[in-house]
Amino acid sequence: MATALETPKHVAKSDFKGKVDPDWCAGCGDFGVLAAVEKALVELQIPSHEVVTISGIGCSSNFPGFINTYGMHTLHGRALAVAAGVKMANHDLTVLVTGGDGDGFGIGGNHFMHTMRRNVDLLYIVMDNQIYGLTTGQTSPTSRLGMKTKSMPFGNLEGPVNPISLALAAGATFVARGFSGEQKHLTELIKQGIQHKGFSFLDVFSPCVTYNHDNTYQWFRPRVKKLEDDPAYSPADWMAAMGKSLLWGEEIPIGKFFERTDLPSLHAAEPVLNAGPLVHADIRIPLEVTRSFVEELM
Ligand code: SF4
Repeated sequence: MATALETPKHVAKSDFKGKVDPDWCAGCGDFGVLAAVEKALVELQIPSHEVVTISGIGCSSNFPGFINTYGMHTLHGRALAVAAGVKMANHDLTVLVTGGDGDGFGIGGNHFMHTMRRNVDLLYIVMDNQIYGLTTGQTSPTSRLGMKTKSMPFGNLEGPVNPISLALAAGATFVARGFSGEQKHLTELIKQGIQHKGFSFLDVFSPCVTYNHDNTYQWFRPRVKKLEDDPAYSPADWMAAMGKSLLWGEEIPIGKFFERTDLPSLHAAEPVLNAGPLVHADIRIPLEVTRSFVEELM
């Protein structure tokens, strides 16, 4: 008979309430992402001590401080590198990486590409507001051509990164886009991203209400169209996903663009980790082996 100690505790939303309340501006899209992450974890019944949330630098990168999970607020653009290490050390954990478009596609662009091709099993949520918010409104890698910002007052001269096309080309095995104004849909995408066994990329339109007056909730609402509403669309079709990723303007697709499940994640492909998470393994090097290494160098 199960004792009270053995009975799994029901995971509730209150379990994830951080000690600090978010200091984001009222109306910031990041509130919607935080709420959707908490809801997804509750619906999947994942206890907070089995989750690690890792971020870089930026408004959205303050995320680990606002949710009660294990967490690390790391260096600018380096969250994915740290998260890959965490996952390899203990692949039993649910690893979430949160950050913004500047942190992820600018400073961290190199890690973005390599974590995808390695198929590290984690969910990377980018709160994409097309601007640098924390530093008060400079052009970011996803700011549109011609957008006037503090750093480019006469208009952005650089074409924006297309995160969805980039993720598809780099080999991400789960690629999706959400909108913080579509909570139920966003929660569903987060759940799917967590359950996917491999690298899951979720770009979320998360409006910066203070510094981006172009890409507002009002601007996105009539444009976003759910891929799931098109019965002919198949997320298994990479070419179709690439075609959809290029749409921008009057119609901007959100939803699951692409998923493949036939590739092992990095930890599943690593024979050393087949016996279980590294964190539980005896990794002491026998004395005679150490001695022979030293002797070889003498
Ligand atoms: Fe959100 Fe923008 Fe305020 Fe940062 S500056 S908290 S991104 S609204």
